[in-house]
Amino acid sequence: MMDGPRITLLSSLDAKLRSFLEADPRGNERAAMVLFQRHHFVVPDLAVSDRYVAVDVIPMEEPWVTGSSPTHVSFNLGPLREILRRCEEDGLALGFAHNHPTGYEAFSEIDSANERALLEALSNRNGGHVNLVALLLANGTWKGRVRSSSAPNFPVPARHIAIIGSRIQLGSFAQQDTTGFRSRQAAAFGQPFVEALASLRVGVIGASGTGSPVITLLARAGVGEILIIDNDCLDETNLNRVRGARKSDVGEYKADVLARFVDALGLPVKTASMQSLIDVSPDAVDALSTCDVVFGCTDDQLGRQLLNSALYAFAFPLIDLGLGGHVTEKDEDAVLRSHFGRISVIFPEFGECLFCQGVLREVWIRHQEALRENPALTEEQARERYLEGGGEGAPGVGPFTSATADFGVATLFDLLKPFRRFPAAVRKDQFFIDFVNMEINSRGQKGDFDCPYCGAHEFTNLNSSHRLGRPSLGRRTVHV
Ligand SMILES: [Zn+2]
Ligand SMILES: [Zn+2]
Repeated sequence: MMDGPRITLLSSLDAKLRSFLEADPRGNERAAMVLFQRHHFVVPDLAVSDRYVAVDVIPMEEPWVTGSSPTHVSFNLGPLREILRRCEEDGLALGFAHNHPTGYEAFSEIDSANERALLEALSNRNGGHVNLVALLLANGTWKGRVRSSSAPNFPVPARHIAIIGSRIQLGSFAQQDTTGFRSRQAAAFGQPFVEALASLRVGVIGASGTGSPVITLLARAGVGEILIIDNDCLDETNLNRVRGARKSDVGEYKADVLARFVDALGLPVKTASMQSLIDVSPDAVDALSTCDVVFGCTDDQLGRQLLNSALYAFAFPLIDLGLGGHVTEKDEDAVLRSHFGRISVIFPEFGECLFCQGVLREVWIRHQEALRENPALTEEQARERYLEGGGEGAPGVGPFTSATADFGVATLFDLLKPFRRFPAAVRKDQFFIDFVNMEINSRGQKGDFDCPYCGAHEFTNLNSSHRLGRPSLGRRTVHV
């Protein structure tokens, strides 16, 4: 079941599809073509599960549609040619969506025949190995499956369908075993919530102070797959806060230490570890594109900058965590003046990006680029910059990194099943836990409509021949 394809619809396209399909004045069936980006990179140790992200919807109207009733819709294949050409040129996968106004919630025999005819047209025109995504809307919920030219009579049901708006709505998931260790959580949030978690692939970037508790909490919460990316090795100074790390692990990659720790828990979760810097590794970028949700748990500005474009290009919500604060010295003793944990949530279509939230700054990015070229600068610069820049001497306190991680994972729960009541002064897309003054607060919004990320949306569904439009990351492999 974990090998089933995952289908993602941004809320704007979900709304466009629904409003067209359900608007026939006679109450007849309607149909639309949906174009998808197919993220098919196979992450070693994880399930083979393609992730299809819808990028365009093309309503099928007369004369394309030749007849319809409450129980059928028929169409000719002529106008399809132009769409098939676009699929080939842009490396997009074809999808077919229709509704059942009668409320019949399963694909019918006629649906199967229609899908086979579309797949055949696609295969004849574009050749090679092709896939067709089928979506069915009945009683307000989606069902989905994917049919492949290598086995046209055996459609594979979707592992889930995700609608990404200012929350994550998951549906149509395959049944999972949600008894045993998951039952106490079901007691708080219900059975569908637990099944939704089990259908998720979550990426965690950074496996240190905040990343390690995020990873262990996700595993115990019953998330189905966890991808851990971190290029650092465990240092003895990490042992005060890295969950699951033992002294005997010092010198090993943190990503491997965490994956091994989670595997040893014996829970039904698949883990994969990559020892990469996400902003320079094409494989890490491709692996990110297969995630349903990503946690940013790194102090690395260049890595965060990559996540800030990837969340738009690959349509996943990003939960970014960070710590900051200020320490002074008095009588040769350290005095903690301020210390806070930050939780940011950025959706492809909602909220401010990390630049607009003030988490990323051009000057810090340039600074880090300089450090990469000349590592000898590190110590001095880190002392100057304190926590936001990370570095060797920066404070890292277990209870604070851990509390930030706890709030981060609870934020994922809130996205799947909203339970929080935010005070008026606290932003849903960004809040700080002030560990010194004991309060939760937010900064003001920037509201930059020209921002290329969250304002002008230049990266949303980016279809560039290079990964994320960066020639340094190499060409995107396109297989329809
Ligand atoms: Zn049907
Ligand atoms: Zn922005």
